[in-house]
Amino acid sequence: TENQNQQQKPAQDPVSCYQAQPQRNLLHEKRKNQDGEWKVERSYEVLSKLGKGGFAKVYLAKDISSNEQYAIKVVDKSSLEKDSFKEKLNQEIKIQKSLNHENVVKYYTSFEDSQNVYIVLEYCSNQTFKELLDRRKRLTEIEVKSHLFQIIQSLKYIHSKGVIHRDLKIANIFLNDKMVVKLADFGLSAMMKNAQKRKTVCGTPNYIAPEVLKNQGHDYLVDNWAIGVIVYTFLIGKPPFEEKEVENTLRNIKANRYSFPENCTISKEAKDFIQKILVPNPDQRLTMDQMLQHPFMKSEEYYIPKTFPISTLALPPTAN
Ligand code: ADP
Repeated sequence: TENQNQQQKPAQDPVSCYQAQPQRNLLHEKRKNQDGEWKVERSYEVLSKLGKGGFAKVYLAKDISSNEQYAIKVVDKSSLEKDSFKEKLNQEIKIQKSLNHENVVKYYTSFEDSQNVYIVLEYCSNQTFKELLDRRKRLTEIEVKSHLFQIIQSLKYIHSKGVIHRDLKIANIFLNDKMVVKLADFGLSAMMKNAQKRKTVCGTPNYIAPEVLKNQGHDYLVDNWAIGVIVYTFLIGKPPFEEKEVENTLRNIKANRYSFPENCTISKEAKDFIQKILVPNPDQRLTMDQMLQHPFMKSEEYYIPKTFPISTLALPPTAN
């Protein structure tokens, strides 16, 4: 009977039943309406801190109405007093807004309150290739081909939109929950107008192209150079020009001094690919399309998977 059913239910623990819900850390996206009143457009629950960068803290947050997760970049306005920071941030927002590609971290919106500017971005739960390489040390050639194919697609896309990344490195390339490659961090990107050559010196030492160091003006091809550095790093486990002292790294780059370790087992196609990218004269460097046509990328012996399983975050892929 109904009465018996009720009796079979376990008695509720009076303590847990009345325990207060843990405090939720809510962030409200407020916007001014036509009458100049502030209205909450969306609320996010801040779940954890993802990291800290040069001028921002990044949090994992969930839109409480849709349950979608986002990475929210939080920039303290007091850090924006310096004009260069303000410029960097505005630049990043403007560029992110203009991009929409499967292999580029998606920008959703940005808003602010009295203290901070918030940038709502696609969340990449599997971190960057920096963390991946810290665990794996180096990647197999078939993985490099698959990841690189996506990196090239993202760069061909941004270049077609007049954007040069300029700070391409393994710490700026993320993997999402489905192991899809996502290019991020446009703080240093430049919007190119009329293909003029840029002259600002920037970028992380290991990845800087020689024409930037020699102050010869530079363009899209600095990103191609960085691909050479990335592929070498993926396959060998350390960047090609790296030295303890930054000056020595820069000297190696200027002199195009790098080599493959004697005992390294990478294919001749992979070596040739890297050598045709790490070419000092940008005009003689492989273009993105030439990279896709190179024998390293056009292996016909076996099928190159579109993405790799999550297990490859820690271990090499297995043969089957
Ligand atoms: P920087 O200021 O050096 O450019 P960021 O502010 O872009 O660095 O990011 C700082 C850290 O936050 C990153 O190293 C990463 O761990 C994390 N992060 C940034 N963006 C995302 C994202 N879209 N998804 C997941 N984690 C992210």
